[in-house]
Amino acid sequence: MSKADTPSEPLRAEYDSLVESVRRYRFAYYNEDAPLISDAEFDQLFRRLEEIEALHPELVSNDSPTQEVGGEISAVFSPVQHLSQMYSLEDVFSLDELEAWVLKAQLSAEKLAGQRLVESPLRWLTELKIDGLAVNLLYRKGTLVRAATRGDGITGEDITHNVLTIKEIPRQLKGENLPEEVEIRGEVFIASKDFAELNEQMVAAGRAPFANPRNSAAGSLRQKDPAETAKRPLSMLVHGIGARQGFEVGGQSESYALLKEWGLPTSPYFKVFSGYSEILDFIAHYGEHRHDLLHEIDGIVVKIDDFATQRALGYTSRVPRWAVAYKYPPEEVNTKLLDIQVNV
Ligand code: NAD
Repeated sequence: MSKADTPSEPLRAEYDSLVESVRRYRFAYYNEDAPLISDAEFDQLFRRLEEIEALHPELVSNDSPTQEVGGEISAVFSPVQHLSQMYSLEDVFSLDELEAWVLKAQLSAEKLAGQRLVESPLRWLTELKIDGLAVNLLYRKGTLVRAATRGDGITGEDITHNVLTIKEIPRQLKGENLPEEVEIRGEVFIASKDFAELNEQMVAAGRAPFANPRNSAAGSLRQKDPAETAKRPLSMLVHGIGARQGFEVGGQSESYALLKEWGLPTSPYFKVFSGYSEILDFIAHYGEHRHDLLHEIDGIVVKIDDFATQRALGYTSRVPRWAVAYKYPPEEVNTKLLDIQVNV
Protein backbone atom coordinates (compact mmCIF):
# COMPACT_ATOMS: atom_id res chain seq x y z
CA MET A 1 0.00 0.00 0.00
CA SER A 2 1.44 3.43 -0.90
CA LYS A 3 1.81 6.15 1.72
CA ALA A 4 -0.80 8.26 -0.11
CA ASP A 5 -3.37 5.52 0.55
CA THR A 6 -2.97 5.71 4.30
CA PRO A 7 -5.84 7.62 5.90
CA SER A 8 -4.86 10.81 7.68
CA GLU A 9 -5.01 10.70 11.46
CA PRO A 10 -8.21 12.80 11.68
CA LEU A 11 -9.87 10.55 9.07
CA ARG A 12 -8.81 7.42 10.97
CA ALA A 13 -10.20 8.95 14.17
CA GLU A 14 -13.46 9.83 12.39
CA TYR A 15 -13.67 6.27 11.06
CA ASP A 16 -13.10 4.66 14.48
CA SER A 17 -15.64 6.92 16.09
CA LEU A 18 -18.19 6.18 13.33
CA VAL A 19 -17.74 2.41 13.76
CA GLU A 20 -18.34 2.76 17.48
CA SER A 21 -21.40 5.01 17.02
CA VAL A 22 -22.97 2.74 14.38
CA ARG A 23 -22.53 -0.27 16.70
CA ARG A 24 -24.07 1.61 19.62
CA TYR A 25 -27.04 2.86 17.54
CA ARG A 26 -27.60 -0.59 16.07
CA PHE A 27 -27.65 -2.13 19.55
CA ALA A 28 -30.28 0.39 20.76
CA TYR A 29 -32.35 -0.13 17.60
CA TYR A 30 -32.22 -3.92 17.27
CA ASN A 31 -31.76 -5.12 20.84
CA GLU A 32 -33.55 -2.52 22.88
CA ASP A 33 -36.13 -1.51 20.24
CA ALA A 34 -35.40 2.05 21.32
CA PRO A 35 -33.52 4.06 18.66
CA LEU A 36 -31.34 6.91 19.90
CA ILE A 37 -31.38 8.79 16.57
CA SER A 38 -33.66 8.97 13.52
CA ASP A 39 -33.28 6.48 10.66
CA ALA A 40 -32.22 9.30 8.34
CA GLU A 41 -29.44 10.32 10.76
CA PHE A 42 -28.35 6.69 11.08
CA ASP A 43 -28.35 6.28 7.29
CA GLN A 44 -26.07 9.34 6.98
CA LEU A 45 -23.54 7.92 9.45
CA PHE A 46 -23.61 4.55 7.70
CA ARG A 47 -23.17 6.21 4.31
CA ARG A 48 -20.15 8.17 5.60
CA LEU A 49 -18.66 4.90 6.89
CA GLU A 50 -19.09 3.38 3.43
CA GLU A 51 -17.50 6.46 1.81
CA ILE A 52 -14.40 6.25 4.00
CA GLU A 53 -14.10 2.51 3.34
CA ALA A 54 -14.42 3.10 -0.41
CA LEU A 55 -11.50 5.56 -0.19
CA HIS A 56 -9.48 3.26 2.09
CA PRO A 57 -10.47 -0.37 1.52
CA GLU A 58 -7.61 -1.42 3.80
CA LEU A 59 -9.74 -0.22 6.75
CA VAL A 60 -12.46 -2.77 6.02
CA SER A 61 -12.37 -5.70 8.40
CA ASN A 62 -14.74 -8.66 8.56
CA ASP A 63 -16.48 -7.19 11.57
CA SER A 64 -16.96 -3.74 10.06
CA PRO A 65 -20.67 -2.79 10.32
CA THR A 66 -20.71 -2.49 6.51
CA GLN A 67 -19.88 -6.20 6.19
CA GLU A 68 -22.48 -7.48 8.63
CA VAL A 69 -26.23 -7.76 8.77
CA GLY A 70 -27.15 -5.55 11.75
CA GLY A 71 -28.79 -7.18 14.75
CA GLU A 72 -27.78 -9.25 17.72
CA ILE A 73 -29.29 -11.97 19.86
CA SER A 74 -30.69 -11.04 23.25
CA ALA A 75 -30.42 -13.46 26.18
CA VAL A 76 -34.23 -13.42 26.54
CA PHE A 77 -34.72 -15.76 23.56
CA SER A 78 -32.98 -18.97 22.51
CA PRO A 79 -30.70 -18.66 19.50
CA VAL A 80 -31.68 -20.50 16.30
CA GLN A 81 -29.65 -21.03 13.15
CA HIS A 82 -31.44 -20.05 9.97
CA LEU A 83 -31.26 -22.81 7.34
CA SER A 84 -30.13 -20.24 4.79
CA GLN A 85 -28.71 -16.80 5.61
CA MET A 86 -30.98 -13.76 5.88
CA TYR A 87 -29.70 -10.53 4.34
CA SER A 88 -30.19 -6.80 4.54
CA LEU A 89 -30.69 -4.62 1.43
CA GLU A 90 -28.40 -2.15 -0.31
CA ASP A 91 -29.84 1.34 0.07
CA VAL A 92 -29.91 4.13 -2.49
CA PHE A 93 -31.02 7.61 -1.52
CA SER A 94 -31.64 9.33 -4.87
CA LEU A 95 -33.08 8.47 -8.28
CA ASP A 96 -29.61 8.99 -9.80
CA GLU A 97 -28.20 6.34 -7.47
CA LEU A 98 -31.10 4.05 -8.29
CA GLU A 99 -30.51 4.43 -12.03
CA ALA A 100 -26.81 3.67 -11.56
CA TRP A 101 -27.69 0.57 -9.52
CA VAL A 102 -30.21 -0.68 -12.11
CA LEU A 103 -27.72 -0.16 -14.96
CA LYS A 104 -25.02 -2.03 -13.05
CA ALA A 105 -27.34 -4.94 -12.23
CA GLN A 106 -28.54 -5.01 -15.85
CA LEU A 107 -24.95 -5.10 -17.14
CA SER A 108 -23.94 -7.90 -14.75
CA ALA A 109 -27.03 -9.88 -15.75
CA GLU A 110 -26.36 -9.31 -19.48
CA LYS A 111 -22.83 -10.63 -19.06
CA LEU A 112 -24.31 -13.75 -17.49
CA ALA A 113 -26.99 -13.91 -20.21
CA GLY A 114 -24.12 -14.03 -22.72
CA GLN A 115 -23.24 -17.30 -21.04
CA ARG A 116 -26.93 -18.30 -21.34
CA LEU A 117 -27.34 -18.34 -17.60
CA VAL A 118 -30.18 -15.91 -17.12
CA GLU A 119 -33.24 -14.39 -18.73
CA SER A 120 -32.80 -11.27 -20.82
CA PRO A 121 -34.29 -8.64 -20.93
CA LEU A 122 -34.91 -8.51 -17.21
CA ARG A 123 -38.20 -8.05 -15.41
CA TRP A 124 -38.15 -5.99 -12.24
CA LEU A 125 -40.43 -6.77 -9.35
CA THR A 126 -41.15 -3.52 -7.58
CA GLU A 127 -42.78 -3.44 -4.16
CA LEU A 128 -43.10 -1.50 -0.94
CA LYS A 129 -40.41 -1.59 1.71
CA ILE A 130 -42.44 -2.44 4.77
CA ASP A 131 -41.21 -0.63 7.87
CA GLY A 132 -41.30 -3.60 10.20
CA LEU A 133 -39.22 -6.39 11.66
CA ALA A 134 -37.81 -9.22 9.55
CA VAL A 135 -39.03 -12.68 10.57
CA ASN A 136 -38.20 -16.14 9.26
CA LEU A 137 -40.94 -18.81 9.37
CA LEU A 138 -39.98 -22.47 9.04
CA TYR A 139 -42.64 -24.87 7.75
CA ARG A 140 -42.15 -28.64 7.61
CA LYS A 141 -44.68 -30.59 5.54
CA GLY A 142 -46.90 -27.50 5.76
CA THR A 143 -46.79 -27.09 9.55
CA LEU A 144 -45.22 -24.04 11.18
CA VAL A 145 -42.46 -25.43 13.39
CA ARG A 146 -40.38 -22.35 14.19
CA ALA A 147 -40.25 -18.59 13.84
CA ALA A 148 -37.16 -16.45 14.39
CA THR A 149 -35.98 -12.85 14.15
CA ARG A 150 -33.29 -12.05 11.55
CA GLY A 151 -30.61 -11.47 14.21
CA ASP A 152 -27.22 -11.25 12.53
CA GLY A 153 -28.60 -13.07 9.49
CA ILE A 154 -27.10 -16.42 10.45
CA THR A 155 -28.49 -16.81 13.96
CA GLY A 156 -31.82 -15.35 15.02
CA GLU A 157 -33.94 -15.37 18.17
CA ASP A 158 -36.57 -18.06 18.65
CA ILE A 159 -39.86 -16.16 18.85
CA THR A 160 -42.15 -19.03 17.83
CA HIS A 161 -44.60 -18.60 20.73
CA ASN A 162 -44.96 -14.90 20.05
CA VAL A 163 -45.43 -15.36 16.31
CA LEU A 164 -48.15 -17.93 16.96
CA THR A 165 -50.26 -15.08 18.39
CA ILE A 166 -50.40 -13.33 14.98
CA LYS A 167 -53.63 -14.36 13.38
CA GLU A 168 -52.62 -13.88 9.71
CA ILE A 169 -49.83 -16.43 10.01
CA PRO A 170 -51.15 -19.92 9.24
CA ARG A 171 -50.11 -22.76 11.57
CA GLN A 172 -50.83 -25.08 8.66
CA LEU A 173 -50.37 -24.25 4.98
CA LYS A 174 -53.21 -24.99 2.55
CA GLY A 175 -53.04 -27.28 -0.46
CA GLU A 176 -51.62 -30.56 -1.59
CA ASN A 177 -48.00 -31.45 -2.37
CA LEU A 178 -46.73 -29.16 0.34
CA PRO A 179 -42.94 -28.98 0.52
CA GLU A 180 -40.87 -31.08 2.89
CA GLU A 181 -39.33 -27.91 4.26
CA VAL A 182 -39.47 -24.22 3.44
CA GLU A 183 -38.31 -20.99 5.07
CA ILE A 184 -40.60 -18.02 4.42
CA ARG A 185 -39.30 -14.52 5.07
CA GLY A 186 -41.41 -11.49 5.73
CA GLU A 187 -42.04 -8.43 7.79
CA VAL A 188 -44.03 -8.15 11.00
CA PHE A 189 -45.52 -4.69 11.44
CA ILE A 190 -48.27 -2.72 13.13
CA ALA A 191 -50.81 -1.30 10.70
CA SER A 192 -50.86 2.50 10.58
CA LYS A 193 -54.43 2.65 11.91
CA ASP A 194 -53.49 0.55 14.97
CA PHE A 195 -50.31 2.43 15.82
CA ALA A 196 -51.79 5.63 17.27
CA GLU A 197 -54.25 3.59 19.33
CA LEU A 198 -51.46 1.40 20.74
CA ASN A 199 -49.41 4.44 21.75
CA GLU A 200 -52.43 5.96 23.50
CA GLN A 201 -52.79 2.72 25.47
CA MET A 202 -49.08 2.75 26.36
CA VAL A 203 -49.29 6.32 27.68
CA ALA A 204 -52.51 5.56 29.60
CA ALA A 205 -50.68 2.63 31.25
CA GLY A 206 -47.89 5.01 32.30
CA ARG A 207 -45.41 3.62 29.79
CA ALA A 208 -43.30 5.42 27.20
CA PRO A 209 -44.90 5.55 23.73
CA PHE A 210 -43.07 3.92 20.82
CA ALA A 211 -40.95 6.12 18.56
CA ASN A 212 -42.50 4.74 15.36
CA PRO A 213 -44.52 1.78 14.04
CA ARG A 214 -41.35 -0.23 13.29
CA ASN A 215 -40.17 -0.03 16.88
CA SER A 216 -43.62 -0.73 18.21
CA ALA A 217 -43.74 -3.92 16.11
CA ALA A 218 -40.25 -4.97 17.19
CA GLY A 219 -40.94 -4.22 20.87
CA SER A 220 -44.27 -6.05 20.72
CA LEU A 221 -42.90 -9.13 19.02
CA ARG A 222 -39.88 -9.42 21.30
CA GLN A 223 -41.88 -9.61 24.53
CA LYS A 224 -40.76 -12.21 27.06
CA ASP A 225 -44.36 -13.20 27.65
CA PRO A 226 -46.34 -14.27 24.54
CA ALA A 227 -49.55 -13.21 26.34
CA GLU A 228 -48.25 -9.61 26.11
CA THR A 229 -47.52 -10.02 22.40
CA ALA A 230 -51.04 -11.37 21.91
CA LYS A 231 -52.45 -8.02 23.15
CA ARG A 232 -50.60 -6.10 20.40
CA PRO A 233 -52.14 -5.60 16.93
CA LEU A 234 -49.37 -7.28 14.93
CA SER A 235 -49.66 -8.13 11.24
CA MET A 236 -47.35 -9.77 8.74
CA LEU A 237 -46.66 -9.74 5.02
CA VAL A 238 -44.27 -12.24 3.43
CA HIS A 239 -41.79 -11.27 0.70
CA GLY A 240 -39.29 -14.06 0.23
CA ILE A 241 -38.33 -17.70 0.36
CA GLY A 242 -35.17 -18.97 2.06
CA ALA A 243 -34.12 -22.62 2.18
CA ARG A 244 -36.51 -24.96 0.39
CA GLN A 245 -36.83 -28.66 -0.23
CA GLY A 246 -39.25 -30.49 -2.43
CA PHE A 247 -40.33 -27.72 -4.83
CA GLU A 248 -38.98 -25.03 -7.14
CA VAL A 249 -40.40 -21.85 -8.62
CA GLY A 250 -39.05 -19.69 -11.42
CA GLY A 251 -39.20 -16.24 -9.91
CA GLN A 252 -40.20 -13.81 -7.21
CA SER A 253 -43.67 -13.00 -8.62
CA GLU A 254 -44.41 -16.68 -9.24
CA SER A 255 -43.37 -17.41 -5.64
CA TYR A 256 -45.81 -14.77 -4.35
CA ALA A 257 -48.65 -16.52 -6.19
CA LEU A 258 -47.64 -19.81 -4.58
CA LEU A 259 -47.27 -18.31 -1.09
CA LYS A 260 -50.75 -16.82 -1.47
CA GLU A 261 -52.15 -20.19 -2.52
CA TRP A 262 -50.65 -21.72 0.62
CA GLY A 263 -52.59 -19.16 2.68
CA LEU A 264 -49.69 -16.85 3.54
CA PRO A 265 -50.27 -13.07 3.63
CA THR A 266 -48.66 -11.49 0.54
CA SER A 267 -48.61 -7.79 -0.27
CA PRO A 268 -51.37 -6.40 -2.49
CA TYR A 269 -49.03 -3.67 -3.74
CA PHE A 270 -46.30 -5.34 -5.86
CA LYS A 271 -45.92 -4.93 -9.67
CA VAL A 272 -43.58 -6.45 -12.27
CA PHE A 273 -42.12 -4.09 -14.91
CA SER A 274 -39.76 -4.42 -17.82
CA GLY A 275 -39.07 -0.70 -18.27
CA TYR A 276 -37.18 1.61 -15.93
CA SER A 277 -39.68 4.46 -16.41
CA GLU A 278 -42.41 2.26 -14.90
CA ILE A 279 -40.29 1.80 -11.78
CA LEU A 280 -40.00 5.58 -11.53
CA ASP A 281 -43.78 5.98 -11.86
CA PHE A 282 -44.28 3.40 -9.08
CA ILE A 283 -41.86 5.31 -6.83
CA ALA A 284 -43.56 8.64 -7.57
CA HIS A 285 -47.02 7.16 -6.95
CA TYR A 286 -46.18 5.67 -3.56
CA GLY A 287 -44.13 8.72 -2.61
CA GLU A 288 -47.38 10.66 -2.89
CA HIS A 289 -49.56 8.02 -1.25
CA ARG A 290 -47.22 6.62 1.39
CA HIS A 291 -49.54 7.55 4.23
CA ASP A 292 -52.66 6.09 2.59
CA LEU A 293 -51.41 2.52 2.88
CA LEU A 294 -52.07 -0.36 5.25
CA HIS A 295 -48.61 0.06 6.79
CA GLU A 296 -45.76 2.57 6.99
CA ILE A 297 -43.08 2.27 4.35
CA ASP A 298 -39.53 3.57 4.35
CA GLY A 299 -38.96 3.10 0.66
CA ILE A 300 -39.43 0.92 -2.39
CA VAL A 301 -37.68 -2.38 -3.06
CA VAL A 302 -36.71 -3.29 -6.63
CA LYS A 303 -35.82 -6.95 -7.23
CA ILE A 304 -34.81 -8.85 -10.34
CA ASP A 305 -37.80 -11.18 -10.74
CA ASP A 306 -36.08 -14.22 -12.24
CA PHE A 307 -34.67 -16.67 -9.66
CA ALA A 308 -31.97 -18.01 -12.02
CA THR A 309 -30.63 -14.46 -12.42
CA GLN A 310 -30.87 -13.89 -8.65
CA ARG A 311 -28.82 -17.04 -8.05
CA ALA A 312 -26.26 -16.10 -10.66
CA LEU A 313 -25.75 -12.61 -9.19
CA GLY A 314 -25.63 -13.89 -5.62
CA TYR A 315 -24.87 -11.95 -2.43
CA THR A 316 -22.22 -9.89 -0.68
CA SER A 317 -21.72 -10.72 3.01
CA ARG A 318 -24.56 -8.27 3.81
CA VAL A 319 -26.89 -7.79 0.83
CA PRO A 320 -28.19 -9.48 -2.34
CA ARG A 321 -26.78 -8.14 -5.62
CA TRP A 322 -30.19 -8.56 -7.26
CA ALA A 323 -32.24 -6.19 -5.09
CA VAL A 324 -32.05 -2.62 -3.89
CA ALA A 325 -33.99 -0.38 -1.51
CA TYR A 326 -34.76 3.14 -2.69
CA LYS A 327 -35.29 5.26 0.45
CA TYR A 328 -37.60 8.26 0.20
CA PRO A 329 -36.13 11.54 1.47
CA PRO A 330 -37.00 12.15 5.15
CA GLU A 331 -40.25 14.04 5.44
CA GLU A 332 -40.18 17.69 6.48
CA VAL A 333 -43.25 17.27 8.63
CA ASN A 334 -41.32 14.94 10.98
CA THR A 335 -38.54 17.47 11.41
CA LYS A 336 -41.07 20.13 12.29
CA LEU A 337 -42.76 17.85 14.81
CA LEU A 338 -39.40 17.03 16.30
CA ASP A 339 -38.57 20.75 16.61
CA ILE A 340 -41.84 21.38 18.39
CA GLN A 341 -41.19 18.51 20.80
CA VAL A 342 -37.67 19.71 21.49
CA ASN A 343 -38.87 23.26 22.09
CA VAL A 344 -41.70 22.39 24.44
P1 NAD B 1 -33.22 -2.26 6.01
O1 NAD B 1 -34.32 -2.32 6.98
O2 NAD B 1 -32.94 -0.94 5.41
O3 NAD B 1 -33.50 -3.27 4.79
C1 NAD B 1 -33.42 -4.65 4.86
C2 NAD B 1 -34.67 -5.27 5.37
O4 NAD B 1 -35.80 -4.76 4.71
C3 NAD B 1 -34.74 -6.75 5.10
O5 NAD B 1 -34.08 -7.46 6.10
C4 NAD B 1 -36.22 -7.02 5.08
O6 NAD B 1 -36.64 -7.64 6.24
C5 NAD B 1 -36.85 -5.65 4.98
N1 NAD B 1 -37.89 -5.51 3.96
C6 NAD B 1 -39.01 -4.75 4.08
N2 NAD B 1 -39.78 -4.84 3.01
C7 NAD B 1 -39.16 -5.70 2.17
C8 NAD B 1 -39.48 -6.20 0.89
N3 NAD B 1 -40.58 -5.83 0.26
N4 NAD B 1 -38.61 -7.05 0.32
C9 NAD B 1 -37.47 -7.43 0.94
N5 NAD B 1 -37.10 -6.98 2.17
C10 NAD B 1 -37.94 -6.12 2.76
O7 NAD B 1 -31.93 -2.85 6.54
P2 NAD B 1 -31.48 -3.21 8.00
O8 NAD B 1 -30.11 -3.70 7.81
O9 NAD B 1 -32.46 -4.01 8.75
O10 NAD B 1 -31.50 -1.87 8.75
C11 NAD B 1 -30.90 -0.77 8.29
C12 NAD B 1 -31.91 0.32 8.43
O11 NAD B 1 -32.47 0.29 9.75
C13 NAD B 1 -31.20 1.62 8.28
O12 NAD B 1 -31.25 2.02 6.96
C14 NAD B 1 -31.93 2.50 9.26
O13 NAD B 1 -32.95 3.15 8.52
C15 NAD B 1 -32.50 1.56 10.26
N6 NAD B 1 -31.68 1.63 11.47
C16 NAD B 1 -31.89 2.69 12.25
C17 NAD B 1 -31.15 2.86 13.43
C18 NAD B 1 -31.42 4.04 14.28
O14 NAD B 1 -30.68 4.25 15.26
N7 NAD B 1 -32.41 4.85 13.97
C19 NAD B 1 -30.18 1.91 13.78
C20 NAD B 1 -29.99 0.82 12.95
C21 NAD B 1 -30.74 0.69 11.79
